[in-house]
Amino acid sequence: MAEAGRVVIIGWDCAPPQLVLDQWLDDMPNLKQLVEGGAAGRIRSTDPPITVPAWTSMLTSVNPGQLGFFGFRNRRVGEYDSKWIANNTAVNFPRAWDILGDAGKRCCMVNVPQTYPVKPVNGILVSSFLTPDTTCEYTYPAGLGKQLDAIADGYMIDVDEFRTDDKRDLLERIYLMTDKRFKVSKALMQVDEWDFFMMVEMGPDRLEHGFWKYCDPEHPKYEPGNEFETAMLDYYVHLDEQLGEFIALAGDDAAVFVVSDHGGKAMQGSFCINDWLIEQGLLTLNQPVDGITRFEADMVDWEHTTAWSWGGYYGRLFINVEGREPQGTVPKADYESVRDDLIARIEAIADPEGRMMDSRVLRPQDIYTGEHVDEAPDLMIYLDDLNWRLGQDVGNEGLYAFDTEIGPDDSVHDYHGMIAARLPGERQLTIGPDTHVMDVAPTVLEVLGEPIPEHMEGRSLL
Ligand SMILES: [Zn+2]
Repeated sequence: MAEAGRVVIIGWDCAPPQLVLDQWLDDMPNLKQLVEGGAAGRIRSTDPPITVPAWTSMLTSVNPGQLGFFGFRNRRVGEYDSKWIANNTAVNFPRAWDILGDAGKRCCMVNVPQTYPVKPVNGILVSSFLTPDTTCEYTYPAGLGKQLDAIADGYMIDVDEFRTDDKRDLLERIYLMTDKRFKVSKALMQVDEWDFFMMVEMGPDRLEHGFWKYCDPEHPKYEPGNEFETAMLDYYVHLDEQLGEFIALAGDDAAVFVVSDHGGKAMQGSFCINDWLIEQGLLTLNQPVDGITRFEADMVDWEHTTAWSWGGYYGRLFINVEGREPQGTVPKADYESVRDDLIARIEAIADPEGRMMDSRVLRPQDIYTGEHVDEAPDLMIYLDDLNWRLGQDVGNEGLYAFDTEIGPDDSVHDYHGMIAARLPGERQLTIGPDTHVMDVAPTVLEVLGEPIPEHMEGRSLL
C-alpha cells in the first residue's frame, strides 16, 4: 500500500454535523466531493466538548485528565480566586506535528488553538486565539508576522468581542478574519515545502455564537424573515469555496481531512447556577447583592459554603473541602456523599416550565485517566444535554436567564463535531459511532507511514 505523501487538515471550529453534513452538503460541492470520495461522519469531542481541550486532545491523543486542563480557564486546586489560562505552555504531550517533525517531516500550522506562546517546530507555526495580539511574537520562526501582515493586509487572529449586538459589524469582521487566514494559509502552502499542513478557522464558532438564533427556526429567539436568516449557510458556502481551493493547492497525493473539535446547537437559555446554590443553602454570600453581580471569591462567606460554580457551556462545580480549601467545610469523609447529593439535586433541576431537564453530572474520576484527574472540577455539569449553559453571576431575578453574563450568545456546544476525509489511492478511513477526536493523531501518523506511539495504539481510523 502506498503511503500518502502528505496530509492536510482543515479545522472548522465548532462545525456542527447536523447542519454541515446532513442539511447543507448539497450547497457545499467541495465538501460533498470529499465526502463522496472518502468517508465522513460524526466525531465525539472531549469531555468537556470545548475548544480547549478538544483540539489538543485531538492532536496528542490524550484526555484532559492527562493534559491537566478542562477549559482555557482553570482553577488551582485549593485556591478560591486563582485562575490560570491553559495556553501552549500547559501542553506537555507531543502533538502529531512534534512526532512528525522528529521524524524529519516538515509541518506547517496556522491558528491551531493552544499554540501561543510558540514552541519550535520542524517547519512553520502561526499561533492562535490565546495570543494577546499581533504585536506579540506569534510565529515560528520568529518574525514572520510582518510577511503575514503584508500578505493579508493586516493579519487577524480572532474577532474581538464576538458577543456583541452589532451583528452587521460582527459578520463583516468574521468574513474579514476568515479571508485573511485563508490568504496567509494559501501563501504558506505554496511557498513552504510541507508533509503536514494544518489550519484551523475560528470563524464558524464565532458565527454560530453570534447568529444561530437568526438561522434556526427551532431557536427560542428565532424570528422568521430576519435579515440574517441565511448568514450561517452563506458563510459555510464561503468556507466550502476556500476548501475547494485548498484541496486543489494541496495536490492529488495529499490526504485531506476536514474536522471540527465539537459541534454546536441552539442555546435554550442560561441557568444561574450560583444563585441556585444560594437558594439550596449550599453557598452563602457575606451580604446580599444588589442586582446582577459578577461572582467573585471575596463575596463568599466560605465558612458557611459547601459548593460554588463556574459557568460556561458546561458547569464546573467545586466543593469546599476541609484540608483542601483554605476555609473548607466538607470533611473528606463526607466528600462522596456530598457529591452524590449534589448530583441528585442538579439532575432534578427542571426547566422554566417545570419539565424535567435531561442533565448529566459527571465525576471526573469516572471519565478520565491520568495524573491530573484530581485537578478537575469536583463535578462537571451538562445541563439539559448541553442545551442550557450555566451562568455564574449572582443576584439574577429568578434562576433562568436568556442572555449570558458576558454578552449575547445564541448557541451552545454539542458532543459531536464532524469529520470528512479522503485518502489518495485505495485506502479508506472507517468512521463509526465510536470515532473520537483522540483518533485523529494516530490516523495522521499512520497515513504518513510513521509508527504510532504506544498510548495511541488501537485508535487509528485506517
Ligand atoms: Zn471550538
